[in-house]
Amino acid sequence: MAEPNGDGQKSALILFGPPGSGKGTQARLLKECLTIPHISTGDMLRERMQTGDDLGHVIRRLLDQGELVTDELVNRMVEDRIQRADCAAGFILDGYPRTLGQAGTMTRRLAARGFGWTVVHLKVDYNKIIARLAGRRQCSQCATVFNLVSSPPKRENVCDACGSRLVIRDDDSESVIRRRLEGYEEQTRPLLNFFSGEGCPFYEVDGVDDAPPAIARRICNLVRPGLLS
Ligand code: ADP
Ligand code: ZN
Repeated sequence: MAEPNGDGQKSALILFGPPGSGKGTQARLLKECLTIPHISTGDMLRERMQTGDDLGHVIRRLLDQGELVTDELVNRMVEDRIQRADCAAGFILDGYPRTLGQAGTMTRRLAARGFGWTVVHLKVDYNKIIARLAGRRQCSQCATVFNLVSSPPKRENVCDACGSRLVIRDDDSESVIRRRLEGYEEQTRPLLNFFSGEGCPFYEVDGVDDAPPAIARRICNLVRPGLLS
């Protein structure tokens, strides 16, 4: 049976929450404070679809419609990624697991490698999510996320981090956002019950009541003692 948590054990941090709850932004900030890599299945899929081959086209079609890709594909991508040397001490999972099937695979694999896991649930009101996603801009090169309202770039349409152009993601249109939120309700939200049954460290954090760096500091202080020995 999978064995979550345990102080001083190498560990994965799972950032959990609806689309637009700020998982990507928090993961990028937490990567600095926890000094472990950030693994985003959404970023990996967008990168994969740039290749323009058959699989790339399949991924693009699903993402554009706000549908999930298959468990098999993301399970394999994550499995490959976490075997790399930079993940040896721990890593941040952003957007994974997203279905019960993925969660089962993930917990078995982490346990087999001697990893524990900690879950942070970013809670955000759906009306705020829709407003937030509509203002979202992402760097076309380094994937840093900005928001015209809450965290605008210093120069219009230019990434603060690398100077590349910012783009609106195709799946950030309102109808697709609704579809993604429905998918979250149906397929992903049930994982909250799964995680509470696992008995892993579990924290709920309000994803809107503060600026992103302040939220990240709070999460960092909550999880660091259990994550890094
Ligand atoms: P958000 O969390 O804001 O929806 P992401 O960048 O995490 O954005 O994901 C974008 C899209 O990539 C999702 O709508 C889905 O189509 C696909 N995706 C990402 N992670 C997974 C996953 N673990 N399983 C299936 N599909 C995924
Ligand atoms: Zn950039």
